[in-house]
Amino acid sequence: MTKRDYYEVLGVGKNASEQEIKKAYRQKAIQYHPDKNPDNKEAEEKFKEAAEAYEVLSNPEKRQRYDQFGHAGVGGASGAQGFGMDMEDIFSRFGSIFEDFGFGFGGSSRRSRSQSVQRGTNIRIKVKLTLEEIAKGVEKNIKVQKYIHCKVCGSTGAKSSDAVKTCPSCHGSGYTVRVQQSIFGAMQVQSECPQCNGKGKIITDKCTQCMGNGIVKGEEIINIKIPPGVANGMQLSINGKGNAAPNHGINGDLFVLIEEIPHDLFERDGNNIYLEHYISFPQAVLGTSVDIPTIDGKARIKIAPGTQSGTLLRLQGKGITELQSYNKGDLIVNINVYVPKNITKEEKQIIEGLMHAENFQPKLQKRSSFFNRVKQFFE
Ligand SMILES: [Zn+2]
Ligand SMILES: [Zn+2]
Repeated sequence: MTKRDYYEVLGVGKNASEQEIKKAYRQKAIQYHPDKNPDNKEAEEKFKEAAEAYEVLSNPEKRQRYDQFGHAGVGGASGAQGFGMDMEDIFSRFGSIFEDFGFGFGGSSRRSRSQSVQRGTNIRIKVKLTLEEIAKGVEKNIKVQKYIHCKVCGSTGAKSSDAVKTCPSCHGSGYTVRVQQSIFGAMQVQSECPQCNGKGKIITDKCTQCMGNGIVKGEEIINIKIPPGVANGMQLSINGKGNAAPNHGINGDLFVLIEEIPHDLFERDGNNIYLEHYISFPQAVLGTSVDIPTIDGKARIKIAPGTQSGTLLRLQGKGITELQSYNKGDLIVNINVYVPKNITKEEKQIIEGLMHAENFQPKLQKRSSFFNRVKQFFE
């Protein structure tokens, strides 16, 4: 399934301001709000799609990555590792946007407004990739040290289910109301319950494994799908794969920094790959066919009789697949004629015999620079 462009989802232009994006999202969110569209799967999908688009476009750093690299830049390229934001996440992250419009956080069935949601911290990791992996794209299972949910208590933080009690201060509502005198008369002031921090429940006996936080240090093997064509220094983000949050909060994000391992043979320039290849002097004179390495195997190329050192050959489509596209770069081979340093007596005699041969005298000719020779390929 191809993902829709985020700007298209929100119905704004690429140059939309922060305010315009916020406004557009609010309109979509209200249009597809589950309170207005009960049991409507399609509306729910649209609601999630809009939230995902807003999540990225409202964050300058993510928006820039999206503009540059498309969905791959923000971890949304493949469905499996997509955003994974469920309705709860959306309400707790962007809930405030509905408030002005009389929608709450989404009704009594959902997290109540007074509960403060904790967020896990983000994790940054580095992934080293070979040029071969970059050319084709790669899937990696990486072990990440992180906070995970406590298995002992099921991340409730309580020693047993008997140790979870309704908060006596707020009777489970999570907030307290007090009456305050003001110049307008008596006013009800609602605030988060200090005893349970808005959770409505208190733990009388904490889980000894996680000390009541519901999270512990651990590790997770995370599957990371890296699309073809990424480059050194690029960062992919995978939502919800960072540290788990205490008290059933929202997981942080995982940021994956791409590091390209320099290749022994190939040099990369954007999506093109350069290869220096040597042929022997007799091969250059007589012409031949030779095998050269490519990023995914080898290819046979024809060397014409009389090939000069510095001849460039282009193998179309043998380069790197462009990010977010099916286009492929080229493999450009610079042919060099190998001149031996050490030769035997017999070899020396043969070469000496050619020293004054008429066809072996160099002819004066101008050759354009390497840069210009490469350039001509792309005109
Ligand atoms: Zn625990
Ligand atoms: Zn309370």
